[in-house]
Amino acid sequence: MVLLYTLISMAKTAFNILEYCYFRDQIIPFANAQISIMNHSFMYGSAVFEGIRAYYNQDDKALYLLHAQEHLQRILNSAKILRLQANKSVQEMIDIVVEVLKKNAPQQDTYIRPSWFKDTIRIGPSVYCEDDQDSFVVSCITLGDYVDTKKGLNVRTSSWRRLADTAIPARAKVNGSYVNTGLAKAEAILSGYDDAIFLNDDGHVAEGSAMNLFMVTNGTLVSSMGSENILEGITRNFITTIAREELGLQVVYRSIDRTELYTADELFFCGTGAQVAPVTNVDNYVIADAKPGEITTKIQDLYSQICHGKIDKYKKYLIKIEI
Ligand code: PMP
Repeated sequence: MVLLYTLISMAKTAFNILEYCYFRDQIIPFANAQISIMNHSFMYGSAVFEGIRAYYNQDDKALYLLHAQEHLQRILNSAKILRLQANKSVQEMIDIVVEVLKKNAPQQDTYIRPSWFKDTIRIGPSVYCEDDQDSFVVSCITLGDYVDTKKGLNVRTSSWRRLADTAIPARAKVNGSYVNTGLAKAEAILSGYDDAIFLNDDGHVAEGSAMNLFMVTNGTLVSSMGSENILEGITRNFITTIAREELGLQVVYRSIDRTELYTADELFFCGTGAQVAPVTNVDNYVIADAKPGEITTKIQDLYSQICHGKIDKYKKYLIKIEI
């Protein structure tokens, strides 16, 4: 039986924190995992993280952990860019995540947050110090939809620009860079929209506030190139594979202008948290007759079946954890 620690409701996203987490080389109660207010990562955002989903399949009495390998490889890449000393292999981190999930045994869709952080008290923002001990943590929450995946989202172009590779690299999932996300999301909500689309400093479309964006034009899926200051999403990459293999669609990564969005046939966000979420309004331009588009819906259905372990061919991207 899972003991849920607390219930938090934040801007329509309700979640429960699971009781156990991994902190300083042990699985301990979440309530006991505490860091100093002088901790370097708290002072300077000097940490990197991942968000991984595990989908609960009631028939199989199992959680299916999705793309663990890819996420934990990316966390090492992010740590390298930040010059953190992340001294665990991908497999060691996967083993820890699986252990934490088994200990909590949630019978619900779960979202897992691994992070490497500068576990040190030091004045000065340098992220490199030979003597530092950087720490790995894993916490979990139960999570349904992070953004609405059914109605079609009403979004705006943010007045904030996506942070640049020359400032804080967007391809690394750095905790501190989510201030950029937060500013765009807050602006969107406060001005009556569901979410935001970032342009980059060149004025090209980058991505959503915390998810990638696909545009459908003439049956082709189009998404921004990796050099447009985006986080190169694992979900985006996977959708590219399934769109090509299962739906026979062409997928292109290229620069996208803002006004291309207004005349797109369909638009959707994708990401581990966001999953596949149709966008039906951008800057008050109506997309796809204000309904989730046909291709978007097909991809959404396929993605959901794969995540729940219902398509054998794609089980290689899942780790089954019996609960
Ligand atoms: N962009 C940003 C800024 C994100 O935070 C996320 C969520 N990790 C994504 C895109 C989607 O990435 P992924 O599909 O790897 O979760």
